[in-house]
This record gives sequence, structure tokens and C-alpha cells, in this order.
Amino acid sequence: MEKTACVIGSGFAGLSAACYLAKEGYAVTVLEKNATFGGRARQFRASGFSFDMGPSWYWMPDVFDRFFENFGYKVSDFYKLVRLDPSYTVHVDEKKEMIIPAKMEKLMALFESYEKGAAKKLKLFLEDAQYKYEVGINEFVQKPAHGFLEFVDFKVAKSVFKLNLFTSISNHIRQYFKNPHLIKLLEFPVLFLGAMPSDIPALYSLMNYADMSLGTWYPMGGMTKIIEGMIEVAKKLGVKFVSHAEVFDANVDRGKIESLRTSKGDFEADIYINTADYQYFDQNILPKEYRQYDKKYWNNRVLAPSSLLFYLGFDCKIDKLKHHNLFFDGDFDTHASQIYETPKWPSDPLFYVCCPSKTDVSVAPEGCENVFLLMPIAPDIKDNDELREEYFDVMIDRLEKKTGQKLKGNIIYKRSFAVNDFKSEYYSFKGNAYGLANTLKQTGPLKPKMKSTKLSNLYHAGQLTTPGPGVPPSIISGEVAAREICKNYFEPQIL
Ligand SMILES: Cc1cc2nc3c(=O)[nH]c(=O)nc-3n(C[C@H](O)[C@H](O)[C@H](O)COP(=O)(O)OP(=O)(O)OC[C@H]3O[C@@H](n4cnc5c(N)ncnc54)[C@H](O)[C@@H]3O)c2cc1C
Repeated sequence: MEKTACVIGSGFAGLSAACYLAKEGYAVTVLEKNATFGGRARQFRASGFSFDMGPSWYWMPDVFDRFFENFGYKVSDFYKLVRLDPSYTVHVDEKKEMIIPAKMEKLMALFESYEKGAAKKLKLFLEDAQYKYEVGINEFVQKPAHGFLEFVDFKVAKSVFKLNLFTSISNHIRQYFKNPHLIKLLEFPVLFLGAMPSDIPALYSLMNYADMSLGTWYPMGGMTKIIEGMIEVAKKLGVKFVSHAEVFDANVDRGKIESLRTSKGDFEADIYINTADYQYFDQNILPKEYRQYDKKYWNNRVLAPSSLLFYLGFDCKIDKLKHHNLFFDGDFDTHASQIYETPKWPSDPLFYVCCPSKTDVSVAPEGCENVFLLMPIAPDIKDNDELREEYFDVMIDRLEKKTGQKLKGNIIYKRSFAVNDFKSEYYSFKGNAYGLANTLKQTGPLKPKMKSTKLSNLYHAGQLTTPGPGVPPSIISGEVAAREICKNYFEPQIL
């Protein structure tokens, strides 16, 4: 008899899990509460613009290559990938900007211009980061992380000191560089990981290798092209997709999920993979006695930030913007502490401006610019229209100053998205944007468990479990969960 699986959620983790299970012969159904698929990486169209709603940095291209190759395809079968050069621009203070070149020799020259001897040090720093990337991506994140024993007999255990698990990235960077702008530049990728650089293990300098050595890429048509490609692969493998199918609760019998009740009726399967926000599924869908964790556990987790986002359409070109622009002209530590330590709306925010129409004319009408503003904010912080507008003005004023262009009057489309939307659209815990922070205490086996110990046919994948937040990790998470199912699952035992 054909084995069946239900995947809850159609983000990167859900699509990845669905593809891998279907390849192994499972009849898979993906249940998605929203009208469109892709989760935090959905796209919407308005007034002639196409806006990617979430991720915009295409890093670690090897992970995407590997995903499509595993199903007999190439990335180029689904989208055209271009390497951005410059990779991005950092506005380090009111006047100065660092334009980060794609070519390594130019990047080394840039480092040298900020600090004598920094070019050589960058080379050493990136060699070390490459080692971490290779161990991290090829071995560490491929583990289901059920327990520490998995890590005993492999390279990670042998090289635990080389991986710098117990040093903070903040100290690690300062062992190489002194210039505050270089330090800021190297600490920036850590913002994706959801904690202060002083709380993130130096293992994550692997992100610097991803950034500076592997490069920043862009799929023409937008990040949604990856989602479309994955859906195409899934459909070719027979996966069924059901939208507007919100899962309300699970019918459980003797330690096993029998069916899910959804807004599109009941769905039964042999196995269930939850890729919706773990906390929501655990606390709101499962009966109390089958929850993996209690309320206290969840409240003690350190979450990655939420974000205030604006999707903007301009009826003019903005010459001074690049594709990726980081406004780091405020105080990094103050903003970070207002996210993680004393949560409040930032006094002098850092923010990010993405302008994909610089690379891709298809995302905006002719002569127009597609702009996405992102300001990281503390999860669960008070959110209302007045606050959003107040910070919109702060960001747009700084943008006008930097570009030397009056812009407010040229906005022909505007939509905001923040904590309340993350909660209502994705049932995101405390309105987080990027899941759980990658602190040492929330790494590997210390993350919420991928395999339920209460329900024999339930697994979790996605940004709140291993390996963590981000597009590449979510794709890997779906793969690892599917592999575990294929390895472990036989007729569920009565618990
Ligand atoms: C603004 C923003 C910018 C980002 N930028 C980047 C970036 O540049 N690069 C990068 O690598 N990463 C980035 N990330 C992180 C990355 O997008 C996420 O880590 C990744 O997309 C998470 O995928 P997922 O499958 O775990 O979860 P999701 O994409 O959230 O998918 C979960 C799905 O489950 C659905 N769901 C929830 N509850 C139910 C229910 N009860 N029934 C049915 N379905 C349900 C949700 O609607 C959703 O579609 C960004 C994220 C955000 C929000």
C-alpha cells in the first residue's frame, strides 16, 4: 500500500520535505492556510510591481544547486541566477559608504584601505570561515540533532575547537580586525541569526564565507522563482497542494495522529510533518498531553527579531541606490540591545533597503523603482499604524538625505507589514520574522526537537527547529526530516 504524508505549511521547509518524501514514494499532500504558497517567501503583485515578501539575499548557492540536482534538475531549469557586483553597499555613517565588491582582490584592497595589514588578515579569516562552512553545511546541519551522541563520532567533535563553538563571533572578529567599520561589516550577517554578536558562536563566521567568498546572487524574477521551481519539482513527483487549508486541530489516538481537521475538511496520512511555526502547532493544534513542550519552555526561548517592512513602488528611478543597501549609519550595539536586551522601538534604527529593480526590470513598471524597507525590531513589541508611520518617516528621511533625492511624493504604492501581520499571516510566535535565535544554548540538539517524542508519526521542520532560520537552513531542515522519516518510520508503535 502507498505510504501517505501530510505536510503542514508550504514555505521552503515544507516544499523541501514534500519533494524528498515524494521521491521516496510517499503520496504527499501539502496543507497551506494562506491563499498562495511559499510562506514567508511569498510574492505579491500590486500596481504593476512584484514584491518578494520576505527573503531577498540569495546566499549559499551550493545549497540550492544541490536541492535541484537531487531531483535531476539544474537551477537554470527554473530561473536565471546572476551574481551581484557590487554585492551590497553599507552606509557606515552620514557621509561614508562601503561598496562591497564581488571580486576577492578588490575586497582585499578595500579592507587594506581601512586598516593596514587587513587584506592578509581577511584571507586568513576567510580560510578559517571556509573550514567552518564546509563542516557546518556538509556535516553539522545534515544531522537531525536528536542528541549529542550524533556528534561524537565525526569531524565536528574532532574539530570542536577549530569550529569556535565556545568563542563569540564578536571576539573572534576582533582577534583579526580593529577598524570599527570592518568589524561592523563582518558582524552584519549575524543579524540574520537573531542575537547580539557577543551571544553568537564564532562558528557562524561561516556566514562571512558565504557572504564574501560565495557571493550574493539574485534569481531573475525574484526569490519567488525558487518557490515556483520547488513547486514544479513537487508537482512532477505527484505532490498535491491545498491552499486555504488551515489546520485547526489534530485527532490523536494512542500516541499517533489519526487525522488533521482543516478548513478544507479532514486529512488522514501515515506520517505528518509540521513546518508551520513549531510553537503554534505544538501549543494550539496538539491536545495538551501530546505537546512536546510547555508554555514556560516556549517563553524561555530566545527569538530572532521581528521586522517592520514596507513594500514601496516609486514612479521614478533612485540613482544612488544599489540592489542591497544597508543603512548602518546608526549605532549597531544600541539598536541590537533594543531588540534583544531591553526590547523597545529603536531610538536610532539601522535598516536595510532592497531595490531589486536595479537588477531586474520585470519587478517594476518602466521608469519605476521597486523598494523594500526592513527594520529589525524586537519580537512581540507593540505594533500599530502610528508607530509604523513614525518609523517610515525616519527611514524615508534618511533615504532622501543619502540619495539627495526628494522621494516621498513619488510613492505610488505602499504597504506595511510588521509584528501583527507575522502573527496573523503565519501564526508566528511573538510575531518573529526569522524563527529562533542561533545562540549557543539553542544550537544543534538544544533546539526544539525535530522528531516528536509524544507522537510516533509527527516530525517538525523549518526555521524553529534544526538547523535554524534562513532559506538554505529551511531547505536542509525539510530534507533532514524527510530522511529521518524514511530511515525510521515503520508502522507506528503504540506508545
Ligand atoms: C522579512 C524577511 C526577510 C528575510 N530575509 C532572508 C534572506 O534574505 N535570506 C535568507 O536566507 N532568509 C531570509 N529570511 C528567513 C527565511 O525567509 C525563513 O527562514 C524561511 O523562509 C522559513 O521557511 P519555513 O518553511 O521554515 O517557514 P514559513 O515560510 O513561515 O512557512 C510556514 C508556512 O506554514 C503556514 N502555516 C502556519 N500555520 C498553519 C496552519 N495552522 N495550517 C496550515 N498552514 C499553516 C504558513 O502560512 C506558512 O506558509 C527572511 C525572513 C523574513 C520574514
